[in-house]
Amino acid sequence: MAEALEWSPTRIRQLIREKHLVLEPSRVTPTDLESRLGWSRAQVKTARKQGLVPAPDSEGWSIWWWESTIAERLEPRLIEKCLICGARFETVRGRAIHESWHRP
Ligand SMILES: [Zn+2]
Repeated sequence: MAEALEWSPTRIRQLIREKHLVLEPSRVTPTDLESRLGWSRAQVKTARKQGLVPAPDSEGWSIWWWESTIAERLEPRLIEKCLICGARFETVRGRAIHESWHRP
């Protein structure tokens, strides 16, 4: 593929990093979840413990989910959105606690 498109592997890695190029099916890492949902690392951990985040699709030491797992099983439950930063939550209470952090 790299040769057909005349892109160097370095260029392709750069495009993937900048999200111009997506290889399907894509995987979602805990770090992806953090930026996508506006959550902190601790929030992702807590949500996993609480079972809000589905069990990882990965096996072994690395943790990731298929894009479809997150899109179908997690995101529909996150209907409460912070008006200030866009972070997403399952409950009004979760959003309210989060929003209180924005206030000095
Ligand atoms: Zn916020």
